[in-house]
Amino acid sequence: MIISIKDLGKVYKNGQIEVEALRNVDVNIDKEEFVAIMGPSGSGKSTLMNIIGCLDKSTTGEYWLDGVNISTLNETELARVRNRKIGFVFQSFNLLPRITALQNVELPMIYAGVGAKERRKRAMLALERVGLEKRVHHKPNEMSGGQKQRVAIARSLVNSPAIILADEPTGNLDSTAGEEIMTVFQDLNREGVTIVLVTHEPDIAEHTKRVLRFKDGMLRSDEIVQNPLDAR
Ligand code: ADP
Ligand code: ADP
Repeated sequence: MIISIKDLGKVYKNGQIEVEALRNVDVNIDKEEFVAIMGPSGSGKSTLMNIIGCLDKSTTGEYWLDGVNISTLNETELARVRNRKIGFVFQSFNLLPRITALQNVELPMIYAGVGAKERRKRAMLALERVGLEKRVHHKPNEMSGGQKQRVAIARSLVNSPAIILADEPTGNLDSTAGEEIMTVFQDLNREGVTIVLVTHEPDIAEHTKRVLRFKDGMLRSDEIVQNPLDAR
């Protein structure tokens, strides 16, 4: 089990005002799963992703990631687990515009203290895995949205995280590029990468293997996707 969430709750407190963003959430996610989180705006998806990504902590309940009880960690420990175990992919790519695809993919390894030669090697391999070996010296503004997102996916892979978390990864892409990105995720998942993504789009969720639906901070359904759509 990569992720084990037990009776999780999250309350935001701003002065006198309290918002219950998550309530009584129980979910287990195994290695090599491919999960979509869906639900209307305000249903708690971002809050859950922030907790799974070790960016925020729950108010109640337990969150175990790869055998570690995250609920008990302090900020420094949380940051360490985040850097080692989580690969993030964002809706708006979050690439640095003035450096090449290769340099963008190398960045997380610089922070992790990986040597220059090894960095280059691992970045090239990651860019090959997402089918961008011919674009490694291009800068983000010379690339399409789908290509930029592939760079971001390569970047999320380089420190061999336990899980890739993607927040609306196709939200800024047209449907063709969105399908292309889902193909990349499906290929990685077949190679054994565990992926959890948030999406509003049913067509995107149909490419995953399991859909969790949230409403009003509660998990309302947890369903296996029968015959996931293959993007090719
Ligand atoms: P979703 O991602 O599904 O749109 P969120 O997790 O962003 O939902 O929000 C769930 C609920 O928690 C909403 O009512 C939202 O307004 C509230 N919320 C989210 N973040 C905060 C915050 N930092 N402070 C107060 N309330 C918040
Ligand atoms: P999403 O695209 O997931 O719906 P939101 O617009 O709900 O995102 O939230 C964007 C950011 O604002 C998040 O970081 C969330 O935590 C924060 N946020 C959402 N609702 C509130 C709120 N009521 N008070 C403070 N921060 C909030």
